[in-house]
Amino acid sequence: MLPTPALEDHRGHCRCRACKLSAELCICGRLPRVEMPLRIVVIQHPREHHSQSNTGSLVHRVFSNSELRDYTEVMRDAAADVTGPWEPSTDYHVLFPRQGARVVAPGVLDRSRQSGTGPGSRSPARRRALVVLDARWRQARRMSHRVPGLGRFPFLTLPEELPAPALNLRRPAGAGQVSTAEAVARCLELLGHVDAARKLRESLELLVSRALFLRGKISRREFEHIERQRKKRETTGADGTTILVGEK
Ligand SMILES: [Zn+2]
Repeated sequence: MLPTPALEDHRGHCRCRACKLSAELCICGRLPRVEMPLRIVVIQHPREHHSQSNTGSLVHRVFSNSELRDYTEVMRDAAADVTGPWEPSTDYHVLFPRQGARVVAPGVLDRSRQSGTGPGSRSPARRRALVVLDARWRQARRMSHRVPGLGRFPFLTLPEELPAPALNLRRPAGAGQVSTAEAVARCLELLGHVDAARKLRESLELLVSRALFLRGKISRREFEHIERQRKKRETTGADGTTILVGEK
């Protein structure tokens, strides 16, 4: 089980340090650990560290080979090291909708030729990583320009027509803008990592419904309905097989 040390919030309530929920709603023991060949690198703005509405940390906790990097540290390390924070043996893609970004679709990662790859072919020894900027919208835009070396990687954007999720921890800043974890889940789904996307989305739903209940944004009745639906899914997978969720 993952450690869940307690933390007191400003009102004196006891909160889990990792998921920021109360002890009885803590999700830490219920999170799956998912292995995936595509590495996810979350660059997190320092303002997100202690935010209860942050979902970038959830991405890192669900995917075993992911990385959570602090934006300030990335900038400091990059200033000290001319090679920057990027591994030469990895092909990076950045999930952020800047101008010229390619729409995420099956095979989109194969269409990029990056430094170190031969013309039209990709060495099987090269690893792949998806970089995600975990911040409020305007901060993420600034980060996309400032992180050294990021601009030379291909940028990806999600299709605009995808529906908004039913529950959100933050009000979307604009149409098509979703949380970090939701964006990653959508991207993975479109890239064909359907099972990984489903596990992330289930973890996100668990976090969001419990956080909204804790804030009084959804009623106990709605909350209990969501919990019942989730338990049903946990015991019986979509294909009728039993799936393991969490280590509890
Ligand atoms: Zn917790």
